[in-house]
Amino acid sequence: MELNYKTIFAKRKTLTITVERDRSIVVTAPEGTAPEKIRQLVESRKLWLYEKTRHVQKYDPLPHPPGKELVTGESLPYLGRLYRIELVEGDGEIRFEQKFIVPRAHAGQSPAFRAWFIAQAEEKILPRVASHARNLGVAYKEAKIGQGKYRWGSCTPQDNVILNWRLIKAPMFVIDYVVVHELAHLIEQNHTPRFWNIVRSQAPGMDKAKAWLQKNGALLEQEL
Ligand SMILES: [Zn+2]
Repeated sequence: MELNYKTIFAKRKTLTITVERDRSIVVTAPEGTAPEKIRQLVESRKLWLYEKTRHVQKYDPLPHPPGKELVTGESLPYLGRLYRIELVEGDGEIRFEQKFIVPRAHAGQSPAFRAWFIAQAEEKILPRVASHARNLGVAYKEAKIGQGKYRWGSCTPQDNVILNWRLIKAPMFVIDYVVVHELAHLIEQNHTPRFWNIVRSQAPGMDKAKAWLQKNGALLEQEL
């Protein structure tokens, strides 16, 4: 994993690292400190920083605490925006009309929501795989929506592309970046400069998408 950080130079003698409330990493360094030295410091505290930036509960309030029942007025992320939940009587299907209309029968537990998200992921993400593959001129065997927890996407040695259903909570430019990233591995296996050039050419929002994932990854990892 690569950690992004911001450096602030100041008239002081020591190097310090802090994690801001929004989970961004800030290094304060004496004026004239070599970037390499700063990078080494960040590198040496990588595990600690990883912990700090991942322990979301401490930094960002969660929109929906895990395990809690859904109630009217709470919201869930979908395609990069938070939409409110409205509980209605009955036990029909979950519907989406610029808000989630959720029959009370599904309110207590998450499987119905998860199924809904997975269905949306299949409907909206898989066609992106097909069109980006066409544009990149690559062929894959099969594209699937996967249920792994910690990877947004992967490309198997058998040329199957698997995308995490949780991506459906992210904006489309993030989905596109992950799709293009995995497809680009069919051309170039490693994260070489050539690889990143390929990704950038097809997903111009790449840097923004990476930053988005770094900031909001934990939100996607939640069950709902
Ligand atoms: Zn990769």
